Amino acid sequence: MRPMTREEVRGAIVNLEPSENKVRLPVWFDDVRWDRVDYLGWRDLRSPQRAYLVTEAEGQALGVLLRQAPNDAAHGSRAMMCDLCRFTRRFNEVSLFTARRPSRDKRERLNTIGLLLCTDLDCAVKLHSKPIRQPFDPPVDEMIEARRVGMRSRTITFIRSVSEPQRTGRRRR
Ligand SMILES: [Zn+2]
Repeated sequence: MRPMTREEVRGAIVNLEPSENKVRLPVWFDDVRWDRVDYLGWRDLRSPQRAYLVTEAEGQALGVLLRQAPNDAAHGSRAMMCDLCRFTRRFNEVSLFTARRPSRDKRERLNTIGLLLCTDLDCAVKLHSKPIRQPFDPPVDEMIEARRVGMRSRTITFIRSVSEPQRTGRRRR
């Protein structure tokens, strides 16, 4: 994705509540390798259950606030697949996060949408890992690029789905 300013990233979150309007950026913000990531993902250090994802959609910054759901033992030790990078990892390396949909209607406050996501928000590491190439596969660079295109589009789709109720309520296309 293209480099973004702090203001852009802070202003991108579609589902902040008025009471939690302070977006704390990661301390390593100045070291982000923008060309390597397809979303900027980080946790709020003072409130580690809170995580943010920001990506770029049609040139605009688009982001979401997530909460990591409490780990339940029900998953056992099975491997799980991240919804964004689509890599299957050990069960503790993928966690359930939820995003609250913004709403003006108080009755809809509990309207949330879930996402299985790499616990450390490090999908990029997986995406850049060297694929095992079969004889008729495209070159490695192209395979990695295809993974990135797929993840970017799934990330955008997810964040848009979080912001949907407000968009349809206020603005008709
Ligand atoms: Zn992932």
